[in-house]
Amino acid sequence: MKPDITIIPERPAVELGPVRCFSSRQKAQIFKRAKGFCDLCRSKIFGRWVAGHVLAHSIGGRTVIDNGRVECLKCAGQTHIDDTMTAAKARRLAGMTGQTARRARNGSKMKSRGFDKSLKKKFSGEVERK
Ligand SMILES: [Zn+2]
Repeated sequence: MKPDITIIPERPAVELGPVRCFSSRQKAQIFKRAKGFCDLCRSKIFGRWVAGHVLAHSIGGRTVIDNGRVECLKCAGQTHIDDTMTAAKARRLAGMTGQTARRARNGSKMKSRGFDKSLKKKFSGEVERK
């Protein structure tokens, strides 16, 4: 079923910066500032590394040199796990994602079929119609 895009909020709960990735020039300056070390575990970078956000982009962190840091590949995978979970919860509570939003989009309701109240069970175990 195709979701009705008219009821999806126009803006996310957090206003995200327009740019997510650091430019080559920004990366060079971030690396120079870190003097070639991982900003998280302080190990020397010999090969590949990642320019990461100090304040995660998903929760409104800007892609500027001051908010950038050098992350070795070992550290890069472990950052912002809590932030990502917080952002996901914020989206859920804002009604953008999750079961409640999905049900609102689809118009479906979770409803119990209930009990058959036309029957009555006696103490003896005998069932009779009301
Ligand atoms: Zn590291």
